[in-house]
Amino acid sequence: MDSPAFEDVGSENTLPGIGEGEIIVIRSTRRKKNISAYRQGGRIVVSIPARMSKADERAMVPEMVAKIRAQEAAITMSEEALAIRIEELLSELAPEICLRPASVLWRGMRERWGSCTGVDRTIRISDRLKGAPDYALDYVLFHEAIHLEYFDHGPQFKELLARFAKAELASAYLDGYEAAETALAAPEALKKLLAKGEKTPL
Ligand SMILES: [Zn+2]
Repeated sequence: MDSPAFEDVGSENTLPGIGEGEIIVIRSTRRKKNISAYRQGGRIVVSIPARMSKADERAMVPEMVAKIRAQEAAITMSEEALAIRIEELLSELAPEICLRPASVLWRGMRERWGSCTGVDRTIRISDRLKGAPDYALDYVLFHEAIHLEYFDHGPQFKELLARFAKAELASAYLDGYEAAETALAAPEALKKLLAKGEKTPL
C-alpha cells in the first residue's frame, strides 16, 4: 500500500492566503505526474508527486486550493437561501413556531455546527457544512430554528426535532465528519493508536 508522508503546512511553512492547519500536503510515491486536491474534514488535502520540488509545491498548492474553493463557492447556498430553507422547514415540520430568524449567517466555526442567539434571533451555521448533503444541512438548520422558540434541549425541543425524518442519517454524517477531522488533526497520534492495535476513536 502507498504510504503517503503527511506534511502539515504549518507556521514556518505557511503559504500566502492560507490559514494555518487548513491545508495538508501529501507526497505520494505512487503519484508520478498528477496533482490532485480534495476536501476532507475541515481541511483541503493536496496530493502531489513525491519528487515535486519545494518551489513547484509552493506554486501549485495555492492554485489547487483556489480551485477547490471556487468549486465549493459554486455549490454553496447563499445566506438568503439558508433563510428561505429555514422558512420551508419550519412551515412544513413545525408550523406552531411562528418566530423567524432576523439573520442567518455562514460562520467559520470548528467547534459547533450551528448556533442560535435568542436576543437578536441570529442563526449561525458552520461553514464546514458548505457542500454537505442536503439532509445534514437541513438537520442543523432545523435544530437551530427550533431554538428560536426553545432555548434548551428539553422534551418539547426533542419532540419537534424528532419530526425530522433523516435525523439519524444526518447525525451519522456529522459524527463521521468530526471523526475524519480528528484523525487528520493528529495523524501521528492516530498512527500510534493504530500501531498499538487499538480501535480508531469514533
Ligand atoms: Zn442545540
